[in-house]
Amino acid sequence: MAQQVDFDIVVVGGRIVGLASAYKIQCNHPGISVALLEKEKQIASHQTGRNSCVIHSGLYYTPGSNKAKTCTKGRKELVAFAKEHNIPCDITGKIIVATHKKELPNLERIYNNGLANEVEGIEKIGPDQIKKIEPFCEGIAGLKVPCTGIIDFTEVAKKLASLIETKGQASKVFTSHEVLAFEKHDFHTKVLTNKTALRARYIINCAGLQCDRIARLDGVKAGMRIVPFRGDYYELTKDAAEKVKSLIYPVPNPAFPFLGVHFTRKINGSVECGPNAVFSFKREGYRKTDFNFRDTWDAMSYKGTWMLFLRHWKFGLGEYKRAFSKKLFLRQLQRLIPSLGADDIEPGSAGVRAQAVGRDGKPIDDFVVVRHGNSIHVLNAPSPAATASLAIGEHISQMAAEFFEL
Ligand SMILES: Cc1cc2nc3c(=O)[nH]c(=O)nc-3n(C[C@H](O)[C@H](O)[C@H](O)COP(=O)(O)OP(=O)(O)OC[C@H]3O[C@@H](n4cnc5c(N)ncnc54)[C@H](O)[C@@H]3O)c2cc1C
Repeated sequence: MAQQVDFDIVVVGGRIVGLASAYKIQCNHPGISVALLEKEKQIASHQTGRNSCVIHSGLYYTPGSNKAKTCTKGRKELVAFAKEHNIPCDITGKIIVATHKKELPNLERIYNNGLANEVEGIEKIGPDQIKKIEPFCEGIAGLKVPCTGIIDFTEVAKKLASLIETKGQASKVFTSHEVLAFEKHDFHTKVLTNKTALRARYIINCAGLQCDRIARLDGVKAGMRIVPFRGDYYELTKDAAEKVKSLIYPVPNPAFPFLGVHFTRKINGSVECGPNAVFSFKREGYRKTDFNFRDTWDAMSYKGTWMLFLRHWKFGLGEYKRAFSKKLFLRQLQRLIPSLGADDIEPGSAGVRAQAVGRDGKPIDDFVVVRHGNSIHVLNAPSPAATASLAIGEHISQMAAEFFEL
């Protein structure tokens, strides 16, 4: 006889990946009841509420990878979703700019990835075209990417949360509910939170910066750990913001999964520049001096973190210096816009990236989603997971249909 449960599925983590997954499951299986458990009270928290707000085109990612497959698909779906639900979104286009000869092979590699990933309309440009598009930017070569855009991911998250509850009569989004433990039974899992206990047939873990810990609670031996990397932003002053029309990116260093400090004109018209990438002593800490013993111990007692640090100490040191020196941060920005001065930038917000790192010290580049018994765990969903969220959600919905026999 089937056991009584409170919900068919519990999703842990109520931000863009968890919300998109619950939404897709609800659309594909309207009779299923889903409880989404989010430990924070407010919607604009952690990665989804603290990112660059860029709808990525899909041209950076290795052809055939999960990122490549979901970014282009997810982007198109996201833009249609924004249109349907009146969420402000602007397809501004962007340029990627090489400022040194040594960056040209990488620019070429990105261009070829873009072609392989079928990113629409990408074009090689020279110094004159760079200036025509962004008059204050200087570069020796570049790429024009017309399908990149901007959006407020918090608005998308809010809309998804309300749709989950309207589409699924028996579904519910619970905020201020932190998942603390799982109790496994033959036909269900009891999910213990700080407020209540819920019985569910299946679990989906989308806990972002905490996803490895939630996976461990479920007995998963993931072979990776989340190492948090903070990204600080500066903002251009109102006058200096005139120097940026839309989005200007450098050529990223392929050794790292970060895109480099860039300029982003946001939906509200302000221009952000950043983020850098420094190891964070607190997974959900947004100030430079934030510290958490458990988070630091977890990272420092892991062999992979030390191997990563040893391999990339020079890069790490440079990023640290820039985090504490406005002058050095500015120098990096001046590579793209030489006329920027110290008075043109003021400190802005910060975000922390959940970067999965393997035991060998290599950052795991691709999205990782695994099945473990009656659970699905999202173990690595860094950028462009916000852009790709609806496609990741569809993938998770298909996994749920197959493994949970929905
Ligand atoms: C600085 C920065 C810039 C970025 N820029 C972009 C960009 O421009 N474009 C793009 O596409 N992507 C970007 N990204 C990546 C993107 O923001 C993330 O990939 C995406 O937001 C991940 O969503 P998520 O739902 O997995 O994680 P999160 O948004 O971190 O959500 C996870 C949620 O799980 C909750 N949670 C954790 N533990 C528990 C628990 N025990 N119980 C209940 N709830 C729990 C947390 O409170 C959190 O709200 C950026 C990321 C950062 C940090």
